[in-house]
Amino acid sequence: MTNQEIADLLRSVAAAYSMKGLNRFQIIAYEGAADGIEHATSDVTDLWKHEGKEGLKQIPGIGEGIAVHLDELFRTGQVAHFEDVLKDYPEGLFSLLKVPGVGPKTALKLVELGVDDLRGLKNAIQDRSIEGKVTDKLLMKLREGLEEYQKRSDRMLLPMAEELADIIVGYLTKAPFIRKADPLGSLRRKVSTIGDIDIAVASDDIKKVKAHLLDLPILGKILEEGETTLTLVLKNGIRVDIMVQPLTSYGALIQHFTGSKHHNIKLRSYANKRGFSLSEHGIKEIKSKTLLPVEDEGKIYELLGMQVPPPEIREDTGEIEAAIDQKLPVLVALGDIKGDVHTHTTWSDGHNSVSEMAEKAKNLGYKYMAITDHSYPNLDFSKRIKQIEQYNDSENGIRVIIGLEVNITASCGLQVSDRVLSEHEFILASIHSSFRQDKETITKRLVYALEHPLVNGIAHPTGRILLERSGYEADWEKVFEACLKYDKFLEINSFPDRMDLPDILVREAVGKGVKLVVNTDSHHLEHMTLMKYGVGVARRGWTTKKSILNALDLPEFVKEAHVRLRK
Ligand SMILES: [Zn+2]
Ligand SMILES: [Zn+2]
Repeated sequence: MTNQEIADLLRSVAAAYSMKGLNRFQIIAYEGAADGIEHATSDVTDLWKHEGKEGLKQIPGIGEGIAVHLDELFRTGQVAHFEDVLKDYPEGLFSLLKVPGVGPKTALKLVELGVDDLRGLKNAIQDRSIEGKVTDKLLMKLREGLEEYQKRSDRMLLPMAEELADIIVGYLTKAPFIRKADPLGSLRRKVSTIGDIDIAVASDDIKKVKAHLLDLPILGKILEEGETTLTLVLKNGIRVDIMVQPLTSYGALIQHFTGSKHHNIKLRSYANKRGFSLSEHGIKEIKSKTLLPVEDEGKIYELLGMQVPPPEIREDTGEIEAAIDQKLPVLVALGDIKGDVHTHTTWSDGHNSVSEMAEKAKNLGYKYMAITDHSYPNLDFSKRIKQIEQYNDSENGIRVIIGLEVNITASCGLQVSDRVLSEHEFILASIHSSFRQDKETITKRLVYALEHPLVNGIAHPTGRILLERSGYEADWEKVFEACLKYDKFLEINSFPDRMDLPDILVREAVGKGVKLVVNTDSHHLEHMTLMKYGVGVARRGWTTKKSILNALDLPEFVKEAHVRLRK
């Protein structure tokens, strides 16, 4: 079960309790646990597998009672108590409760009218079949709620959010009365998909900030203004919240709104123990009641005797404890990457030639790269190899590794013969078809490829396409084991809709000692600068340079990744 499915189940139980008029504290407990699971960065099912019932209590909001139920859920596939509570209500009713403004009573009424899930509600409003059956007032509320719900679930890929934030920050900081501006929240933590954009602004005069924003070229309109906040909607419909504070408390502002929520909760309770309280205005010494405004965010952690956790890992998954112990890892940085070893050219589905891609890689400062076109069966492999060799022979200051990205077939094979594979220096294997096979079969395919002596590693290991499809299911434990056994790597693919391995699996892989590479999977010159997003995923997975093979210089990379140089 995914975290979201578990959270949804707990929310359904909470809703059923409330419809039955049961104890309010129970309801709050279930909602709190659902919250915690939704925001958890580790997979709850895996956590249970490794650490059992006790491990579940690491998730904020899960206490003994709920841990017992979840333990039963994972062991038997259901919870007798939940079944008992939920049996009186149709299943779809609980999905209706996700719509803002729809409470249990309204949901029940809708079910009686034959609207039994979210899609049903959407249709009933669209084809107006619900009109006349509910009051006009309720109809309006449903329409607004549905719109709000859809907006809320509208997320965008990180690069799009970054691009918009860059435009806004660049525009803001041109004004003399704006001293600083920075993105906040999940954007600053480099989460792969982003909802709203939040931006901090250091300025003494919010009125001037507002007036300045009116000329922002991508502005739709300013929706709301508060004492310290402005809410905008951009021309493309995306919401942006601007938080304004004077420069003297700017550090507190960005710390507060970088989050995550769970990071801040734990940090605040730690601060309290040390006699401080935290807010977006600064850090207050509780005894003397003096508020110390903080200009530089690092100062807050420093005052608490901690290292500053990089924003990417502020998820309350151990970073606060590590920062207190002065044991935060030094995370891999973009500048550590020495070569991009997954790129495509016009030999397969890429837009640029071998030399164009190589020149671009050189301009980005790489000393080596691999060109890994798809293994199209009708490709003239020898001609392609010869062309790359010729490029290398003319000594252009970058070594192009002659690679291939080979499909792992549905029936556990590789798309081209071993003879063809062996003529190449470097083979990435990946799954591009039959994603819907069961977990066992997918695992077998991945392990088969890892075991294959000519395969160097697996590209985009989960096959997920963000905002489109979740990855295929695999037994990652077994995949990691195979990586270690055969000394193969897994890729972190930087392509914006992939970001694959996902950060949670990255952390597990790194913890087990699995080696990784970070690549762009470029199909165009312009894609080659996407590397930073893969590095962001690596950082969110607590990865140091040591785990990343393409942070090595060429000779070491060749050795550690088992590249078979032809000459
Ligand atoms: Zn691929
Ligand atoms: Zn590719």
